[in-house]
Amino acid sequence: MSDAETLFERIIAGEIPSEKVYEDETTYAFRDIAPQARVHVLVVPKKRYRNLAELAAGDPRLLADVASTARKVAEIEGIAESGYRVVFNTDGDAGQTVFHVHAHVLGGEQLGHFGR
Ligand code: AMP
Repeated sequence: MSDAETLFERIIAGEIPSEKVYEDETTYAFRDIAPQARVHVLVVPKKRYRNLAELAAGDPRLLADVASTARKVAEIEGIAESGYRVVFNTDGDAGQTVFHVHAHVLGGEQLGHFGR
C-alpha cells in the first residue's frame, strides 16, 4: 500500500493533522488542503474502500452514512439551502489521487460546469 493509499487512514487516526468539520462512528469529514471552492470538505468512511463502486458493492449502509454526512456538512457549512456539489472521483480520467473513497462537498459560491 503506497503513502497515498494510507493518507486518509492516517488523518482519521489523528497521525496527520486535519481541520475536522464533523465526525461520527463511521465517517470523518475535514477541509480539503487545496480547496477548489469556498467550501470544500472531504467526507471519508472510516473503513477503507478503494472507490465508490467498491463501497457501494461492499457496504451500502456505509455509503448511505457517507451521503448523510455530506448533507450534515452542508448544513454545518451553511450551504444546504444555497446548493452544493458532491463528487466521487474514480481512477485515472477523473484524477483520483487518494485511493480511500471520499466525497468532495463543494459550494459556498456559484460553481462552474464540470467535465472536460
Ligand atoms: P482525489 O483527487 O479525488 O483523490 O482527492 C484527493 C483530495 O485530497 C484532493 O482534493 C487533495 O487536495 C486532498 N488532500 C490531499 N492531502 C490532504 C491533506 N493532508 N489534508 C486534506 N486534504 C488533502
